[in-house]
Amino acid sequence: MQANKYPIERRYIAKRPNTRPGLRLTTGTPAFFVAHDTGNPGADADSHYRYFNALTDRSASAHTFIDDKKILEIIPAGTDKDPAEKAWHVLYKVTSDNEHFGYNANDAALGVELCYGGNIDFEEAYKRFVWYLAYCCARWNKDPRLFIPSHKQLDPARKIDCDNGLKSGGRTLKELIADVTATLAEPPLIQVPHGDSSNPTSPAFTPLPADLAQALIGEYVRPAWAAARASHQQPEAEHFHRLAVNLRAAAGIDERGVRLPQAVKLHKSNAQEMIFRWLSPAWYRAQAAGDTKAAASAHARANRLRLAAGLPEQ
Ligand SMILES: [Zn+2]
Repeated sequence: MQANKYPIERRYIAKRPNTRPGLRLTTGTPAFFVAHDTGNPGADADSHYRYFNALTDRSASAHTFIDDKKILEIIPAGTDKDPAEKAWHVLYKVTSDNEHFGYNANDAALGVELCYGGNIDFEEAYKRFVWYLAYCCARWNKDPRLFIPSHKQLDPARKIDCDNGLKSGGRTLKELIADVTATLAEPPLIQVPHGDSSNPTSPAFTPLPADLAQALIGEYVRPAWAAARASHQQPEAEHFHRLAVNLRAAAGIDERGVRLPQAVKLHKSNAQEMIFRWLSPAWYRAQAAGDTKAAASAHARANRLRLAAGLPEQ
């Protein structure tokens, strides 16, 4: 994708607990991107800056406002030197973000807002919205099909964005995701300065075979997740859920086993944990039982995990 197609303007609102608490994201870098619209037809990016800079009577904010003329970050999003901070763009009591991503959106995601309606040229705003979401996916190596929920998807009982804003220009969320995916794939292939070690420009990796990802989840990760849930260890359960999400992403499949446009490099820590927690013990048990076939299988599985994380085989 073209890394400098549009400028990103950074003009931050004052720190204040109800809008910009000044806290770093729990995940360090953004883990997913929530697609919003402002729900305020005709109001552009600058007017949202003024609104949130003055807001004192309720908790609300988002990182980035995009209209037909500019992309404006009003809270640091981590796209430049300033590390990403929390913003209040999805209710904490909503649980779908935790279920899908292992975190509350406010603690882990960027809130990206499409300005629309009134005198705002929809096509120009939409192009910038698509490009910015693709830029974020490139920077943090996220598949748009997995990591861009709409606010409505996270909170369907209360919210209709960004589907509603897209509809004002005759677009759907599905088209948005397809356009982001296409933009990401445009040559030149990702020239974005990278924000973390999982960036695709770091050393090569070999995607995990889909059947191996499914087998590892079924044999090890899902039972560990179920046990953590049964004993009310919520952080543990969320951890295992994320592990399963990452294994599927490393195999380039979604939760139903449907193939995605690309696989994502596995985090080194995920590969190391899988090996330390399950595959090494399986190898030792097989060796002790004289089962050379099972030992070889555990060894081969460990190496596929290493390759998926860009680590050398052992
Ligand atoms: Zn929203």
